[in-house]
Formats: sequence, C-alpha cells, structure tokens
Amino acid sequence: MQDREHIYIGGAWVRPMREAAPLAVVNPATARAIARVPACSGEDVATAAAAARAALAAWSALTPVQRAAYLQQIAQGLKARADELARLITSEVGTPIKQCGRLQVAGPLYAWGQYARLAAEFAFESEVGHSLVVREPVGVIAAITPWNYPLHQVTCKVAPALAAGCTVVLKPAETAPLSALLLAEVIHAAGLPAGVFNLVTGDGPGVGEALVTHPEVDMVSFTGSTAAGKRIAALCAPSVKRLALELGGKSAAVVLDDADFAAAAKGIVAACFQNAGQTCSAHTRMLVPASAYAQIKPLVAAAAASYAAGDPMDEATRLGPIANQRQLERVRAAIAQGQASGAELVAGGGPLPTGGFFVAPTVFGQVDPASPLAREEIFGPVLSIISYRDEAHAVALANDSDYGLAGGVWSADVQRAVRVARQMRTGQVDINGAPFNIQAPFGGHKQSGLGRENGVYGMEEFLELKSIQMPLPPKAA
Ligand code: NAD
Repeated sequence: MQDREHIYIGGAWVRPMREAAPLAVVNPATARAIARVPACSGEDVATAAAAARAALAAWSALTPVQRAAYLQQIAQGLKARADELARLITSEVGTPIKQCGRLQVAGPLYAWGQYARLAAEFAFESEVGHSLVVREPVGVIAAITPWNYPLHQVTCKVAPALAAGCTVVLKPAETAPLSALLLAEVIHAAGLPAGVFNLVTGDGPGVGEALVTHPEVDMVSFTGSTAAGKRIAALCAPSVKRLALELGGKSAAVVLDDADFAAAAKGIVAACFQNAGQTCSAHTRMLVPASAYAQIKPLVAAAAASYAAGDPMDEATRLGPIANQRQLERVRAAIAQGQASGAELVAGGGPLPTGGFFVAPTVFGQVDPASPLAREEIFGPVLSIISYRDEAHAVALANDSDYGLAGGVWSADVQRAVRVARQMRTGQVDINGAPFNIQAPFGGHKQSGLGRENGVYGMEEFLELKSIQMPLPPKAA
C-alpha cells in the first residue's frame, strides 16, 4: 500500500489543512486498494490558488527561453522514471503494460519537450498595422483531469500553461492520481519556482467545484464527462471565467464501399478497444454499406476475438480491465441495454478473469441509429455497427450525434476519403487508420467541448491577446 499523506502547494509537500478520511486508489485488475491519497478541502484549494497567484508575476516575467529550460528539465526527469510511470499507470488504470509505455508515457514525455521548444520559438508578439499585438498569459489555471490517460491529460494542460507563462493548480482524478503525484515529484526536483505548479487531491463536487469557483482562478481547463463539463461551464459563468472543455464523444468510422474491409475491421476494432474503450476519441460507431454488412460482420468478430480480457501486467494482454467500479457498472448497464434493444450480438460474453473489473469485448450489429447504443458514450470496449444506404446517408449518420470529437474514413481512394472527412462535423478525422498526431489540434465540435489541446494550438489556449496601438507618425504638413 502506497499511502500519500501530502499535497503539493507553494513548492512544498504539505498535509491537508483538515483531517478527512483518505481516498482509496484501487487496482482495477484485482479490485484491491494500492494507495490512499488525501481528501482535500476548500481551504487547501484556497491556499493552492493563493500560491499560484503569488507566483504568477515572477513566472510570467521570465523570458520564454528561461521557462523552456524548466520544461526541458521536467521532460528529462520524467524520462528517467518512464518505466516506473508505466507500471504505476497500469496499476491505477489497467492499461495493458505492453501498450502503457507507448500510449500513456511516451506521448507526455514528447509533449514536455515539445512545449519547451515551442515556448522558445513562439512569436509572443507581432505587429498589425499600427498595433503591437502581445500574447500574455491568461493567469492562474485550474486544471481538472480524468482517469483514462492520467499523465497525458495532465500534460496537455500543465505543460502548455507553464510554457505560456501561467501558473497552475491541478486536481487529478480521484481514482487515478498517482502518476500526477509522481509528476509533482519530478517538477519539485526540477526546481520550478515555488507556487508555479500546485496539486490538490480530492473529488469533483467538493474539491473540483471549490477550485472552479475560486476567485483567484482565471481559467478552467477541464477534461472529462460532458455532464461535469456542463456543470463547470455553469459555475464559471457568473465570473465569466475563461474555459477550455475536452469532453466526450461518440465518434464514427465510415467504411466506404471501396475500402479494404479486412483492414478497416481490424483498425476500427483497435481504435474502439484501445485502453478498454476508455478513450474520448474512440471510434465506437462503425458505419458500413448495408450491402456489405454480411461480408464485414465476420471480419469484425474475428478482430474482436483477438482482444481477450486479461491481466494488464501480462505482456500478452491486449484488453485490460475497466478502470474503476463505477465505470464497470456503467459499461455493464450499456451492454445489457444493447442486448435488450434487439441489436445483433456479433461478439461478446465468454469467460473473464476473476477478481477485477473485466468486461468482454463486445460488438453489436444492425444497431438502430436512434438507440442509446448508437447515441450515448459508453466508455468501454463496445462497438456498434450501423448500416448506411449511400455516401450521403453515411455522412448524415456520422453527423447525427450530440458529439463531434473524432472519426475515421476508410477508402481505397484517399481523395474520396478526404472529401467525406471534410463533411464530418468533428475535430479530427483519421484516413485509413492514420495514427494520432500530438502536434495537431485536438478537441471537439458540439457537446464534445470548447477549444483545442496539443501542439501550438494547445499553448495558444493559455494566452490572452492584447493590442497596443502605437502613435501614428505626424502627418506631413
Ligand atoms: P467526470 O467527468 O465525473 O470526472 C473527471 C474529472 O472531473 C475528475 O477529476 C472529477 O473529480 C472532476 N469533476 C467531476 N465533477 C466535477 C465538478 N462538478 N466540478 C469540478 N470537477 C469535477 O468523469 P467520471 O465520472 O469519472 O467518468 C464518467 C464518464 O465521463 C465516462 O463514462 C465517460 O463518458 C466520460 N469521460 C470522458 C473522458 C474524456 O477524456 N473526455 C475522460 C473520462 C471520462
């Protein structure tokens, strides 16, 4: 049991101000507690926000190159602990260890280095006509993150915010806070000035809401459920706090009639089942030509069969457990609802490892586009196959969603695929399974969110624009 009794405020590890029962961090593969972390209070949030405010002037006055040196130091500190991070994230989230290093650690390591480079290279000032346009840090940032890619989501906020000259109070997910605490150790070792980065632990309604509503917080950057995002937006409205939201999705992968069906089946199952389906950009709706359904169905069933659930610490495992008990119950309820809806069960059921939060990889076919299976985010290894009549119908179905985060198009004709991609109301589209690009903007249309993360676009979210009008030269007499 790894008990953590301290939080990180003002450059020091401190005990929370009030004694409260600690929060258990549970290994989803065993359902056993592996650590306890403090349940903070609004008083800790206030202390952390005050520390971030006090540090802001000096941090934002550093040159971008000086800030970049700290970020580079943090990148190196994380690199030195990369194996430890992968094991830690596997034990708190359940991501199979073989994928964890690539999915959960390599991206954040790259991103810290990337923001060091961007901070050093970025044009924080430019001229338009007689105006000097200055990009200034927004100020104190509240970063609230979920449990599915814990270090990645923290990095997507903290690294660009620090690069931009902001200071941060982070509240990681209460069910998977251990990698964030390790990051705080690395940041401390890197010698970041006191108060520039602060970390409090606790739940959403208590600690999260205290942070979101705190008057010293200038901007909230949130990743998580659409329901919590709406609540946070309402809480930010009275003070018109700047807001970035990265919320849920129900992303569609469109298989065009000329696609390589076997490759599409394999690629879409992978894009859906990655991290046991707990990925906001997972491709959870597979749109196929009605005339090719019978041909595609067995290909998808075969691809799903290669994702047997198993111990995430085993190198051979491709599908780990669901990350926590609450999520397990949601996923099981969605599968039961799918079975009751009359959709065809293409893959699912079978024996599962005992003791942890496991569900079988599940595929439904002939899914009604109006059913909850096709419309609601499940956040588990559940794929829905929906049939379409023609290309226009495929685009209409893809866009018939409250969400608009990601998607895919599969075709032998890349230009045709791009034409379809342009018609999709979504923040990103992968052609023929093209991989995630951490330098490209990531974020959603509609109820998938506000703003963009990653690359230079992610850093721009943490900058305010100021126009300074310079005096015009005197007119010639
Ligand atoms: P959640 O949105 O409740 O929690 C995410 C983070 O927000 C956590 O740190 C939590 O403590 C905090 N939070 C929750 N309510 C808050 C509030 N009112 N004010 C401030 N902070 C608050 O997510 P969850 O309940 O753990 O997961 C439920 C669903 O969320 C999943 O089924 C999935 O659909 C979705 N989800 C999406 C993402 C994503 O990357 N977009 C990530 C995780 C979960």
